[in-house]
Amino acid sequence: MEIHVMADCLFCRIIRGEVPSKKVYEDEHTLAFDDINPQAPTHVLVIPKKHIAGLKEAGSDDAELVGYCHLAAAEIARQRSIENGYRTVLNVGPGAGQSVFHMHVHLLGGRALHWPPG
Ligand code: AMP
Ligand code: ZN
Repeated sequence: MEIHVMADCLFCRIIRGEVPSKKVYEDEHTLAFDDINPQAPTHVLVIPKKHIAGLKEAGSDDAELVGYCHLAAAEIARQRSIENGYRTVLNVGPGAGQSVFHMHVHLLGGRALHWPPG
């Protein structure tokens, strides 16, 4: 097992190509792919290539990675011309609905988004 890569983590397995995904963006630090259960016409997950369980497990060493994930989401939104209104979301902890414990930014757009999100 590589450092910071978890053998049994679903999203680490997607990074390694062991689980298929519909890749929409990749750079040195991040990978983005379509959510398997989309909640909007654009529903992309942006993940750091380094395994971080979630935002609350991120340390100051991870500050740039957290930022890179958001900048990747902004770039995808630009490419898809959904900049009139999109949302980036991190569900943090089971009480907020986090079900995969590899940090991911949801990028949701392509439809009207309501507030509060529920
Ligand atoms: P969360 O509930 O915030 O942890 O988000 C996890 C997201 O991962 C959910 O929106 C799921 O639909 C999505 N998901 C689960 N398995 C896969 C997969 N194999 N490929 C793509 N998205 C997935
Ligand atoms: Zn992982």
